[in-house]
Amino acid sequence: MDNDEWTTGRVKLRINGQPVELEMTVPAGPVKLQRIIPIFQQLTNMFVDAGVAAVEAEGKAISCTAGCGACCRQPVPIAEAEVYQIAELVEAMPEPRRGVIKARFAAGVAQVRAAGWFDAFEACIERGRSMPYDAAALQQIEVVLQYFRQGVPCPFLEDESCSIHASRPLACREYLVTSPARNCATPIAGTVHKVDVVMRPSRSLAAISRTGRMNGHGLLLLILALELAEAYPDRAPEKTGSEWMMEFFRHATGAATEGPGVVPEQGLR
Ligand code: SF4
Repeated sequence: MDNDEWTTGRVKLRINGQPVELEMTVPAGPVKLQRIIPIFQQLTNMFVDAGVAAVEAEGKAISCTAGCGACCRQPVPIAEAEVYQIAELVEAMPEPRRGVIKARFAAGVAQVRAAGWFDAFEACIERGRSMPYDAAALQQIEVVLQYFRQGVPCPFLEDESCSIHASRPLACREYLVTSPARNCATPIAGTVHKVDVVMRPSRSLAAISRTGRMNGHGLLLLILALELAEAYPDRAPEKTGSEWMMEFFRHATGAATEGPGVVPEQGLR
């Protein structure tokens, strides 16, 4: 894009009582949401860094290290926009790598499907609708652990490291722990201590990119990205960069009012 196709605006937030002003450059014209995912990735990095600084100030240390991919065997939730971003990322890979990655996706989905996990997950979500929040959450944790115990690695995991580190989903960025790495490798509910991130951009991206076309799938999972992109050819709407950012912060700050957190002082302008 040329310079005149971009616009720069400022967002003022208050995070845990501290004023934060962000300057953001976004496309001036209409774009699909997946085109501006790098902006949300940078935002996520910023919030995660703040979370890390907070735990380090308490004397704790992050136990995640390069070469530890224990958490990369979990069901990773992604946004609808990330479904297309990941599918495009894989399509852009040169052969034979593209074929290798696609084969890993297919094998992973086949293993999870053969174990009946997708059905178990849907049933869990359905039961949870009529349960108190805490009971439903506990039940979901148990089903997530069942997925983990199948040992299905993320198709992008190589030598226990992420092969798409710079492009990894927002949910992956938000997952850092202070508990011992061995707890992630053999997780038991309550033994993995995640870094508290004041705002989780993955949730807001998922909310604003939802078109309703994939609602029947409940939570969208990374392992299903290629299958979903093929089943639902991209017909996502286009909006200007400013409109997308306004929607994002409106959702993010609304969600954050439930806890300590992020209060908007001023929108993108
Ligand atoms: S995308 Fe990367 S960080 Fe995320 S689960 Fe896969 S390998 Fe792990």
